[in-house]
Amino acid sequence: MNSNHTIFSFEVFPPKKTMNIETVYKTLDELSGIKPDFISVTYGAGGSANCGNTLNIANRIKDVCGVQSVVHLPCINMTKKDALFVLEQFQEAGIENILALRGDRVEGVEQCNDFAHASDLIRFIKEFDAKRTNGKSFKLFGACYPERHPESPDVLSDIKALKDKVDAGAEHLLSQLFFDNEKFYRFVERARLAGITVPIEAGIMPATNKKSIERMVSMTNAVLPKKFVRMMERYADSPEAIRDAGIAYAVDQIVDLVTNGIEGIHLYTMNNSYVAERINSAVRSLFSEPPVEMEIK
Ligand code: FAD
Repeated sequence: MNSNHTIFSFEVFPPKKTMNIETVYKTLDELSGIKPDFISVTYGAGGSANCGNTLNIANRIKDVCGVQSVVHLPCINMTKKDALFVLEQFQEAGIENILALRGDRVEGVEQCNDFAHASDLIRFIKEFDAKRTNGKSFKLFGACYPERHPESPDVLSDIKALKDKVDAGAEHLLSQLFFDNEKFYRFVERARLAGITVPIEAGIMPATNKKSIERMVSMTNAVLPKKFVRMMERYADSPEAIRDAGIAYAVDQIVDLVTNGIEGIHLYTMNNSYVAERINSAVRSLFSEPPVEMEIK
C-alpha cells in the first residue's frame, strides 16, 4: 500500500447463505492473479456472529493468495465486549488492516448504543492497540461519501464528521460508489480544504446488472448521469450488452480519475473476477504512474 503508484484495490463479500465459501475462494484465487494492492472483505452489520466467514476470507487473502487483506468491521450492533472479542480474534489471526465502520442499520434489529459513530470504534481500536504487548497496531481505514452520507443534514456536517474520523486515527479512506467523477473531484477538494490529508481511494462499481445497481444506488445519494441512465435502459434486457457497457463505463471513469491524479481506485468487484480482469487489462498500465497533486480550483 505505498504511494509511489496509484493504488488499485478490490472489495469482495462473504458467501450468501446458499453459496459455498469455496466459490469465494475460487474468486479470490482469480482476483489475486491481478495483483491488487489489497483486497477488502465486507462484514454484515448483524454483530460479532458475522465474524467467521469474513475472517476466513481475510485469512485466505493474506495467507494463501499472498495479497494484503483489509477486514471491514461495522460496530452498530456490537457492544464493547463484542468488539473486544472480535479484535482479539483479528489479532490472533495476524490481521493488520481494519476498515472501521458504523455499519448500516438492520431492519428489525435494535441498535446497540456502545458506538454511535465509526470514529468511536476507531478510538476503541486505538485503546486496544495501546494495550497490546507485541508492539503491533492495526492500520485503520474509514469510509467516505463523495455525495454525502444519506443521514447527513448537509455536506459540511459530513466533512466535519470525516475530519473527526481521520483525527481519531483513520489513515486511509475508501469512498462510496459514484458514477459522476465531478462529484468525486469536488468532494476531494472539500476534504483537502478541511485539512484531511490521508489517501482517498475512489469507489468504482461496474454496472453489470440493472437490479443490483438499483439496489445499491437506493442505499446511497449517488446521482446517475443521463448517459448512465440511458445505457442502463438501452441494454436492460441483454445481460451481455449491459455487462460490456458497464465495464466500458467503469473503464472510462477510471481513466479520467487516474489521469486527474487521484490516489487510488477501490473496485467493488461484486465477487465477479471476470469483470475485474477485463477492467484490469484495460487500465493496468495507468496504475504504475504515481498520483499527482490534484488542482484545487
Ligand atoms: P460514520 O462515519 O459513523 O457516519 C455515519 C453518519 O454519522 C454520517 O452521516 C456522518 O456524517 C455522521 N457522523 C459521523 N461522525 C459524527 C459525529 N462525530 N457527530 C455527528 N455526526 C457524525 N456496511 C456494513 O455493514 N458492512 C460493510 O462491510 C460495509 N462496507 C463498506 C465499505 C465502504 C467502502 C463504504 C463506503 C461503506 C460500507 N458499509 C458497510 C456501509 C456503511 O456502514 C454505511 O454507509 C453506514 O451507514 C455508515 O458507516 P460509516 O462508517 O461511514 O459511519
